[in-house]
Amino acid sequence: MIELKRTATVLLGALALASTTAVFAAPASTSQEWTYWLLSSSTSSLHSCASEVAKVRDASGLTYLYRASSHASCAQSLTTATVGPEEAVLFKPEAVEDGTRGLEGSWKMRALEALSITQSSPVEEDAGQVAFHLPTSPSMQLLSAHGASLVVAVTPSALATIDHHTTFDTRLQRLVFQPLSSFSTLTDKPEPKYNKPKHNSHVASILSSSAFNASRIESDLRILTGESAQPSEIGEWHSRHSATYGARLAGRWLKSQMEASLSAVNGSCEFWSYSPFFAPNIVCSVPASGEEEWVVVSAHYDSRGTFGSTTAPGGDDDGSGTSALLAIARALGSSPLALRSPVRLIFFSGEEQGLVGSSHYASALKEKVKLAIQMDMLAYRHPGEPLQLAFPDKFVTQSATDLVRQVAELYVPELEQGYTPACCSDHQSFWENNFPATWVFERNGPIKDPMYHNSGDVVDRDGYSVEQLRAIAKVVLASALHVAGFDKA
Ligand SMILES: [Zn+2]
Repeated sequence: MIELKRTATVLLGALALASTTAVFAAPASTSQEWTYWLLSSSTSSLHSCASEVAKVRDASGLTYLYRASSHASCAQSLTTATVGPEEAVLFKPEAVEDGTRGLEGSWKMRALEALSITQSSPVEEDAGQVAFHLPTSPSMQLLSAHGASLVVAVTPSALATIDHHTTFDTRLQRLVFQPLSSFSTLTDKPEPKYNKPKHNSHVASILSSSAFNASRIESDLRILTGESAQPSEIGEWHSRHSATYGARLAGRWLKSQMEASLSAVNGSCEFWSYSPFFAPNIVCSVPASGEEEWVVVSAHYDSRGTFGSTTAPGGDDDGSGTSALLAIARALGSSPLALRSPVRLIFFSGEEQGLVGSSHYASALKEKVKLAIQMDMLAYRHPGEPLQLAFPDKFVTQSATDLVRQVAELYVPELEQGYTPACCSDHQSFWENNFPATWVFERNGPIKDPMYHNSGDVVDRDGYSVEQLRAIAKVVLASALHVAGFDKA
């Protein structure tokens, strides 16, 4: 009897040990918890608990998200506070042309369903916040559902796959928190004055160089999407999703291509890591003898596929901007012009999870930036529509857009110019950090690509226009040259 009792105790002890080990193995439990609460911009008084703030921009305006790490005391004194993990992401609907994909219900309800969040009944509304029933997930916490958007707190590891919980027409934006001491109310963004560009024969001759050959650009594109054989010395990838090994392989290939293109002008490239859960940004620098202010040209090399699919060729989004950046590097590397301002050519990762790579990069940037131009989705041209070039209608530096528009008229006048309500890409991270920035896009109006955020986003399909892609790439290089300034070498 005594012997049996002793055996039972040992067994129970072993079980307790096993379950303790399992708890410690769960990565989510190691994430720091914060207390969050929202205040509309009209609320002037700050809560004594507040230690950090992030700006939440959406179509309905500007809201401030406060947080404090001392969650126990704050949670007791704030009626609408929520406790969650340390990253916060804004979910908002993307401007996609109606009728492309038989959507049912409101965007918000579909987004909540994708997050496995069901609306509780009755709905409690308090200061613009709506109560929802949340799944018991320590890695994800709904902070608010105000206006047309959602704010969700996630762990750093869950951030890398947050797009697995979104509909294809959801845009994500990682929110950057600042210490409350550095907080000021909405500052006016700078609108620098650029010199009016004049047609320059040296620029025109670079634009007509073989760097922009359609066949060369298409060959790069097909390697990126996997439609052509990928380099055996690096390995194959089926996706450039930020959290995959494939993205790291694609990144290695991109870096080697850029180093080869830029070696003649003493260019150099580095992996710029910001999270163990994401493939790194790739940052290339082209030096100049003159001024210190940078001109930045960028694209995002990460991709996203159909919900639940591991295939993400990202031919248009953003293989198009990525291959345009490769072409621009080839043109700069063989250019007979000596730059006056340094140029940075950057491939961002984490764009699809909320401009994550660019938000880390731009908020850490110490240099001054004269102009940042993002190339994202350049190639889809709906059958029957002309060659187009569009600019964002919000969250952008208007004088930067105006400069690029003027340059386009000088060098590629066949592009029909306009604006898009689609939002946003990595230029927004620069703009948020008070650097002048704009974005070039494929279409005047909302997104019309039927393969947007789809595993069918390949190059070999109706509507994919390498002609439009290379035309826009030329506009971007000419704009960068005009703002950087140059001398004939
Ligand atoms: Zn994109």
